[in-house]
Amino acid sequence: MNILVLNCGSSSIKAEIIEAETGQRLNGLKAERLGEAPIITFDSGGDQISCNTKGHEEVLKIALDLLQQRLKGTPIHGVGHRVVHGGEDFDQAVKIDASVEQKIEDLIDLAPLHNPINLQGIRIAKELFKDVPHVAVFDTAFHHTLPKRAKTYAIPVDLAEKHQVRRYGFHGTSHDYVSKMAAEFLQSELRELRLITCHLGNGCSLAAVEYGRSIETSMGMTPLEGLVMGTRSGDIDPGILIYLKEKENLSINDIDHLLNKQSGLKGLAGVNDMRDIIQKSTEGDDGSRLALQVFTHRVRKYIGAYAAVMGGVDAIIFTGGIGENSPVVRHRVAQRLDFLGAVINEDKNHDIRLSHEQKVVDFSMNHSRVKLLAIKTDEQYSIAQQAANLIQEKNKVNTVPPIPIAVSGRHMHITQETLEQLFGKGYELTVKKPLSQPGQFAANEQVTVVGPKNKIERVRILGPCRPKNQIEISRTDEFFLGIDVPVRESGKTTNTPGCKVIGPKGTVDLEEGVICAWRHIHMTPDDAAIFGVKDRDIVEVEVSEGDRALTFGNVLIRVSPKYKLEMHIDTDEGNAAELSRGATGALNATGGAAKLKKRRIS
Ligand code: ADP
Repeated sequence: MNILVLNCGSSSIKAEIIEAETGQRLNGLKAERLGEAPIITFDSGGDQISCNTKGHEEVLKIALDLLQQRLKGTPIHGVGHRVVHGGEDFDQAVKIDASVEQKIEDLIDLAPLHNPINLQGIRIAKELFKDVPHVAVFDTAFHHTLPKRAKTYAIPVDLAEKHQVRRYGFHGTSHDYVSKMAAEFLQSELRELRLITCHLGNGCSLAAVEYGRSIETSMGMTPLEGLVMGTRSGDIDPGILIYLKEKENLSINDIDHLLNKQSGLKGLAGVNDMRDIIQKSTEGDDGSRLALQVFTHRVRKYIGAYAAVMGGVDAIIFTGGIGENSPVVRHRVAQRLDFLGAVINEDKNHDIRLSHEQKVVDFSMNHSRVKLLAIKTDEQYSIAQQAANLIQEKNKVNTVPPIPIAVSGRHMHITQETLEQLFGKGYELTVKKPLSQPGQFAANEQVTVVGPKNKIERVRILGPCRPKNQIEISRTDEFFLGIDVPVRESGKTTNTPGCKVIGPKGTVDLEEGVICAWRHIHMTPDDAAIFGVKDRDIVEVEVSEGDRALTFGNVLIRVSPKYKLEMHIDTDEGNAAELSRGATGALNATGGAAKLKKRRIS
C-alpha cells in the first residue's frame, strides 16, 4: 500500500511516498525556506525549483502538483498527515473526517504554531487526493498513557482544567517507533522492557517507556520544556522570566522569542547546529564547550530521573540527528552510567554508522546489563505504517462503537412492601436523578445496611420498585459488613444471604437478596447485531484508557430493546482500572471500540 506522508512544518514541508509494508521510498520532495524564498527539491534528483510565492498554501499546492506529475501512474492509496497536537482527544491515529478536522482546529490554541499549518496541509491534500482516505498521526498520541502524577502541573487545579494545562509530550511517533525497534533488536517483548528513549535532534525530548507505555516525557504542555535544544531553553526556573521581564522590560512576545528562538545551544554558543558546536569546542571555544556540557548534563540528569521513576531500566536509546550521529554526545551522556548497569563500549560508539540497512547498533559492553542502543528513527515510515493499518482496518473501526462504562456504587432495589415497612404506609419513592437506562432513577431515599461486623449508612435506593428486594455491594463492602455474597446476575437472588436494613420508620430483616453484581453490558438488539453477540453471551472487554489498562473477563451480555448501550461495573472494578465514575467513552481499543472476545454460556 503506497502512502503519501505529509509533514507540514512552519518553515518546511516534507512529502514522501512510502510503500507501507516495506518502508521503501518511491518518491518525495522537500520544500524549504518557506516564508522567505521557498525552494523545492525532489528526492529523485533533477532541478531544484524556486517558487515565486512565499505563502505556505501556494507552495504546498505547487509541490504536491509537481509530485503528482512525477508519480507517472504510481497509485497512492492513502495520505498520512503528521499532526503535532492531538490534545486529550486523540490517543492514536485516526481517519480524518469533518469532526476530526474540527477537533484539530479546536486544538489550535494549544499549538498555535503547528496545528494551523498541519490543518492547511490536510485541506489542500484532500482536494488534490480526493478519492483516498486521509489519516492523522499525532505527535502527542503515544504519551496519552502518562499517569496523572506525570502529566499534572502543580498549579491550581481549576485553572489547569479550564485551560487544558497539562503535560502532553511530543515526538511521540519517534519514541514509539524506536521503542518497537529496540524490542525487536533485543528479541524481547515491548511489554517486558523498561526503556529510556532519547530523541536528540533540533528539538530534543526523553521518554520513559515502561512495558510499552510512555509514563514520563520531558516535553510538556508545549515542546519548550525539558532538554536543552537547538534554539529552545528547555527547563528554566519560571521565576527567571518574572525577573527578566522586570529588568529588561520584556513583553510576552519577547519572552516567547527569547525562549524558543534565542536560547538553547544558540543562546550558549551562538550557533544551534551540534556539528558546529563540537567543532568549535575542539578548537577551544568556551561558549561551545559550556553548551556541550549543559546539553549532555541535562540529558544525563533526565536519564537518572527516569531510571528512578521506573525503578530500573533495560535499555537506553539514542536517536534523532544528534543521538544517531554524534559519538561525542553519546559518550558524554553514557559514560559513568555503570551504577545503573549501563557500560559503554567506546570503540563501538565511535564506529556507529546508521543506515537503512543497519538501523540499530548496540554500543554497550557485552557484560552491560543495560543496553545502550543507537537507533535510526523513521517517523515518516511509522506514519505510513499507522495510516496503512488504519485504512486496512477501516470497516472494523467504523462499525464497532465504543462502549460507555458506568461505575455503580452500592445500592438497593426495593419492593413496594419493603419500602412501606422502612419509610411508612403508602410511601412512594421520589426521583433524585434519572439513570442512563430508560425509566430507571436514583431515589432520594437511603437506607442503612447492617451486617454481622459493621453497618453501612446512606445506601441509595434505585427506582422504580421491583418485585424482589436486592442489595448490590462490592467485595470491599462485603468484607466490611462481614457478609459472604455470591456474584450474581441481577434478579437471581435465590440462595443469597440476607441482612438487616434500617429505614427512618422501621427495620426489615431480609432473608436473601444481597449480591455482588455480575459485570454486564446492556445493549439493544441492534447493538448486539453490530457486536455479533447474543443475550447471555459472555465476553471480554478490554479497557485501554485510564492509568491501569486491564481486560475484564466474564462480562455478561444483556439484550433488550429497552436498554441503552452501557457496561456496568462496581466501584472495586472501576477503581482497579482507575476509571472515574460516570466516565463515558472510557472503553477504548481498535479505534475507539471495545474488543469483544466471545464465549457462549453452555
Ligand atoms: P529535527 O529535530 O529537525 O528532525 P534532526 O533529527 O535532523 O532534526 O537533527 C538535527 C540535529 O542533528 C542538528 O542539530 C545537527 O547538528 C545534528 N547532527 C546531525 N549530524 C550530526 C553529527 N554528525 N554530529 C553531531 N550532530 C549532528
